[in-house]
Amino acid sequence: MVTLPKLNDLGFFEIRLESIGGLGANLAGKMLAEAGVVGVGLNGVSFSSYGSEKKGSAVKAHIRFCDMDTRIRDTSPVERPHVVGVFHESLSKTVNVISGIYEDSTVLVNSTKTPDELKEKMKLRGGTIAVIDAIGISLEEKNRVNMAMLGALFRLCDFLDPDVMRGVIRKSLEKKYPLAVAPALRTFDRGYNEVKFQTYALPEGETMPDFVRFDTPVLGYETQSIGGVITNPGNSILKDLSISRAGMMPHFHEDKCIHCASCDNVCPDFCFVWDELPDKKGRPQMFLQGIDYQYCKGCLKCVQACPTEALTNEREEDGYADLNRMPHRFNLAVNS
Ligand code: SF4
Ligand code: SF4
Repeated sequence: MVTLPKLNDLGFFEIRLESIGGLGANLAGKMLAEAGVVGVGLNGVSFSSYGSEKKGSAVKAHIRFCDMDTRIRDTSPVERPHVVGVFHESLSKTVNVISGIYEDSTVLVNSTKTPDELKEKMKLRGGTIAVIDAIGISLEEKNRVNMAMLGALFRLCDFLDPDVMRGVIRKSLEKKYPLAVAPALRTFDRGYNEVKFQTYALPEGETMPDFVRFDTPVLGYETQSIGGVITNPGNSILKDLSISRAGMMPHFHEDKCIHCASCDNVCPDFCFVWDELPDKKGRPQMFLQGIDYQYCKGCLKCVQACPTEALTNEREEDGYADLNRMPHRFNLAVNS
């Protein structure tokens, strides 16, 4: 039997996966737990938490390992992870993905940035930062992001046996989808081999802040307004769907656009921004100005609908959406 590298007070080594629906974190959590329990003889448990079951909503997967003599009587979410796997870099905009980490925890992020850049961006003070370009690998290998993330997680959790995982992948795919076995194995192996990591000591004299279980909830028992009145109702103008994009986004090429509105007809989220301008004969016509990326969830229906290749399917580069966003007028009014 293997020995776990670190344990908390209850005798558990804990992993938390932070993701959005559609990237396969739930399945990755189950496979990780199976590899620990069936593969190397640990005791373990895995479960997920998510809201509405749809592509793009926030998902957390929780995995707990312990030795065979420790009883698992704790099925609460993992609050203090030894390893965090962040399946979508932009999640850190809206979710505190590093909540509860220890000074020697490992944070794995699906990103094209360097560990130094991520340390700065996520305001991490110490611990190990690991980076894998899981989206890039999955696009090249035509496979799932979760396979590349799993490969990287196996490298970071070196008490797990990657050969066990290769066997699980083979067994689960070869009967129904034999052609999918080789790409899945390649994606897993590339995740395992290509993950980069860097360990940072806490600056001298600094300590990690004490873990706080709950921030004061905005609408909690003691903080809600009289009568339970909701003063900030859901608002489709303020919503931000950018974290729902799973790595790909439409780019708009104005020079090729014939302003036919086919894109607007299929877009489920009102992303296209139009303006009334005079045409060549001076008659008023609607002209497409661009995309308000705040509302774009990356479904790419518009790219398929465009007859002139004025919309192309591109890998999302950090900062592109902010730089090239064409805000709706009502949005400018709300934000001004
Ligand atoms: S479908 Fe293509 S050509 Fe038509 S308005 Fe949209 S971007 Fe322009
Ligand atoms: S990808 Fe295109 S169709 Fe889908 S939400 Fe974004 S702009 Fe709309």
